[in-house]
Amino acid sequence: MIPFDFEYYRPESVEEAVRLYQELETAGKAPVWYGGGSELISMARVGNRRFGAVIDIKSIPECRTLGFDGERLNLGAALTLDELSASHKFPLLGQTAARIADHTIQRRITLGGNLASTIIYREAVLPLLLSDAELTTAGPGGLKKYAIRDIFRERLQLPKGELLVSAAVAREFIEAPYFHIKKTKNEKIDYPLITTDALIAGGNLRIAFSGLAAYPLRDVAAESILNDQRLSLEERAEHAAQFLSGVYLDDMNGSSSYRRFVLKNTVVNILESIKDAEMPCIR
Ligand SMILES: Cc1cc2nc3c(=O)[nH]c(=O)nc-3n(C[C@H](O)[C@H](O)[C@H](O)COP(=O)(O)OP(=O)(O)OC[C@H]3O[C@@H](n4cnc5c(N)ncnc54)[C@H](O)[C@@H]3O)c2cc1C
Repeated sequence: MIPFDFEYYRPESVEEAVRLYQELETAGKAPVWYGGGSELISMARVGNRRFGAVIDIKSIPECRTLGFDGERLNLGAALTLDELSASHKFPLLGQTAARIADHTIQRRITLGGNLASTIIYREAVLPLLLSDAELTTAGPGGLKKYAIRDIFRERLQLPKGELLVSAAVAREFIEAPYFHIKKTKNEKIDYPLITTDALIAGGNLRIAFSGLAAYPLRDVAAESILNDQRLSLEERAEHAAQFLSGVYLDDMNGSSSYRRFVLKNTVVNILESIKDAEMPCIR
């Protein structure tokens, strides 16, 4: 049971949602955006979060968009993980989404909710980081577009009252060869020990991790090491693992040295697969 009362709103346009947020904020209702509600409700139940109003974004068309506009795929923030994987529109995002929680919860968790989550993993952001996604937000100043690297730095850094509306990804990244490897401590369905997403763009390997550090991580300097053709595959993996040694998480899922070990093996496997497939970036 939730130990407090709150109001529920379901606006049908971005403008209505932003106006509602401002009115509720002015009235002292401490409103929150509501995607699938799974995190908000579970935190409210245990007394970790309080709000006077929720603004459910699932009836806003722009937040539900799923399709190509020319060479760009638009993904609404209120799409569920299940819808993302079932659509097969962005295979790397679909596979990543299909390994978050179980199938019942995937019908509830939204793309925006995962990106804005307080939980450190936020796995759905990995394909967006790798594909230089553009995020559209809405606030009192209207719609804004951000390169993902400018607004997702360890977590989604939205100004207060701003709503994540959608993400756009260029087709070249959607059609690129990719890898998705989720390692968990015990069960197949669990938070990641390390989730690794990778894709090949412009002849280079791009790679991002969840669970390796206390936030989702894409590090272009580590990528440069992995693409350095003067080094053997083993050396690249070892140097990259060494380069990232300051970030490793150390918790009950795994020690930092175990994460380093898993990282290196995962990276070697990816590099060898690329080599076996005779892709241009690995020789
Ligand atoms: C059983 C279970 C297993 C899980 N396993 C994993 C896992 O393996 N990997 C992983 O990454 N995560 C996992 N999660 C975490 C889950 O992804 C987050 O809790 C996520 O926040 C839930 O999404 P939601 O749409 O229900 O969010 P909500 O509860 O609706 O919202 C969460 C937060 O995001 C904000 N928000 C929502 N939508 C928007 C928006 N469009 N713009 C701005 N802010 C917004 C809300 O205000 C709130 O602060 C798991 C959760 C559960 C319950």
